[in-house]
This record gives sequence, C-alpha cells and structure tokens, in this order.
Amino acid sequence: MTQSSARTNDRAPLLRAAFESLTPYVADAPRAELHLADNTNLFGAPPAALEAILGSSAADIVHYPTSSGPRLREAIAAYLGVQPNEIVIACGADSIIDCAMRAFCEPGDSVAFPDPTFVMARYFALANTLRPLGVPTRPGGVADVAALCAAAARAVYLCAPNNPTGLQPPPEDLRYVLDQAPGLVMLDEAYAEFAGSTLAAQIPRHGRAIIIRTFSKAFGLAGLRVGYAIGAPALVREIEKARGPFAVSTVALRAATAAITEGLPWVQARVADAVAARNDLLQQLRARGFQPLESAGNFVLLPRADAAQVAQRLATAGIAVRAFPQLTGIGPALRITVGPADAMQRLLDALSLEPA
Ligand code: PMP
Repeated sequence: MTQSSARTNDRAPLLRAAFESLTPYVADAPRAELHLADNTNLFGAPPAALEAILGSSAADIVHYPTSSGPRLREAIAAYLGVQPNEIVIACGADSIIDCAMRAFCEPGDSVAFPDPTFVMARYFALANTLRPLGVPTRPGGVADVAALCAAAARAVYLCAPNNPTGLQPPPEDLRYVLDQAPGLVMLDEAYAEFAGSTLAAQIPRHGRAIIIRTFSKAFGLAGLRVGYAIGAPALVREIEKARGPFAVSTVALRAATAAITEGLPWVQARVADAVAARNDLLQQLRARGFQPLESAGNFVLLPRADAAQVAQRLATAGIAVRAFPQLTGIGPALRITVGPADAMQRLLDALSLEPA
C-alpha cells in the first residue's frame, strides 16, 4: 500500500449514511412534443410576467436580489388576505418543504405523510436525516387523517389537493389534522387555485401549521422557481433561517410579482380553462370506459395495470405522461396534466387505441 492511499483510508468518511438511500430526483428527459407529465400550466405564462422579465436591466443581474422579496410578499399578502410578515419566499415549494423540515425537526424525528403523496416529502425527510412515515391511504386513496395524527410524528405533511391522486381531503379531515396533529402541520396547497379552496387566511392564527404554495402551477412560472409558505410570523422566521438569504433571483421575484398583481385576471381565466378541461377530460375518459380518480387539481390519475406500457406507447406518439409503477392502495397508474382542448384531443385519440 502506498503512503498516500494509507492516508486516504485514515480520513473521516466523506459520505453521509442518510444519503445512501437517496437517489437524485432526475426529471430532465427531453421535453416531449406534448408534455403532460409535470402538472405545469399548459396554457402558458402570464403575459405580464413575461413583460416584467423583458424589462430587466443589467443591474438586476449584476447585484444580489433582496434577501427576502418584500414586494412579492406584499403582493402575495394582498392576494391571500394575510400579512407580509406571515409569508416566506423560497426557490420553489420544494425548497419550502426542505427548509421547514430542517427548521422544525431534529435529526431522527419522524415525518408522517399519506402514501401515496408528493414524492419529495419522503425525499426531503431522508435528506434531513428524518424518518419518513408513509401512512397508507384509505380505500379510494383518501388520506387516513386519524392514522396520520396517531403516528405521533414531529411533523405531518398533507397535500390538498393531493399529488398524484388529485383528491381533495374533505374540510373536516383538514380541520382534524390541524386540531389533532401533535407537531408541525405542513399543508401543501400547490394546486389550491384549481380546487378553489384554501385555508391560507386562517393558518397564521393557528400557530403550529404552515401552508405551502407555488408559482409553478396555476401561475405558469415553474421555470423561475418561486414558492412560498404562509404561517405565523414566528414559524415563517424559522423557515427563513433554514433557507438563508438571496434564494430567489431579482428577475424571478419581479415576474412573480407581476403575475400575482396585474397578471392575476389572466391567471384566473386560465385556471377556469384548466378546471373546465379537467372536468371534460374526466368525462371523456369515463365515456371511453376508463376509470380515472376524481380530481381537484390540473391533472388526473388513471389507474391501469399496464400503466408503464401505455406511457411508453404514448411517448412514441410524442406524448409524455407520468407513469407510477405501484401506488399504495391504487396500483400502477398514469398521471396526466390537463391542457388546452387540442392537446387533450390528441391524448384521447392516442388513448383510444388502448383497451379501457
Ligand atoms: N408540492 C406539490 C404537491 C407538487 O406537486 C409540486 C411540484 N410537482 C411541488 C410541491 C413543488 O413545486 P415547486 O415547483 O414550487 O418546487
């Protein structure tokens, strides 16, 4: 053995044990002609946001952004009927989930979430040395809120409407979790605009819960990476500590501000379009003998034993959907983002070649 390799062996390990079970989340396959896989806004980005980006100057790029986006926090506060100090902005809702877990949980604590739910809940729990506790949903995919609270976890993550099922937990279930969960409640409302219901205005008074929102879905700005949390100022401050300063670029802050102020009527009209397209898609699928789950989001879940093969065949036809090999209590399924009528017709035509 050479001296240098002996020295290498004497050194402290480089890799964290908690990361052994993690594989990087990679979703950057080449964009399909018709991309129905990410639940983004297929009706486009708000023109007001695009104009705001074009109005950027060299100074916006040369200098750091504000540390916490005060103008955008004011605009979000006006949109939701809360106070600016009850909002924290981060690099996407993903970052909010990550920062909240880091801010409120000690290493080794458990985080409970329904299974199935948004995959990043488990991922960020593992990345923060926490114990992910997937609580199987009740038949039909409804979150088992009694079991979620009984898990006695340091934090509960609940998604309303849920990704990937599309199901909106009933108001009494949300209330139960807010009343009964022993630790922090993270209520992920990434798709709330499509469901037309939110608890945002009540959450700051609750004091032990945060709501997670994003500009990636209804607001059409997934490429800019802007998300936020709403909660009591004392909670929001802890998330801000975990996040650090300058998390969102000046250009992204400005575009998001434009989208949620002068761009809001455009966004609301596109949300109405997406809701109509979703209801139409559900009806069309059922008319063809398929059995999609009810959805309150801008996507539908289609359980199918041959989900992987159908996704593959759709891909060769230039259509990307998300295939889940095995969802707890549901089995293999396809998740399909809704979009304009011509896109949905193309999908239905391709699906019609499949047996229901
Ligand atoms: N929460 C849910 C439920 C989501 O589906 C997603 C995106 N797929 C996110 C959070 C992450 O959103 P963002 O793009 O803001 O990171």
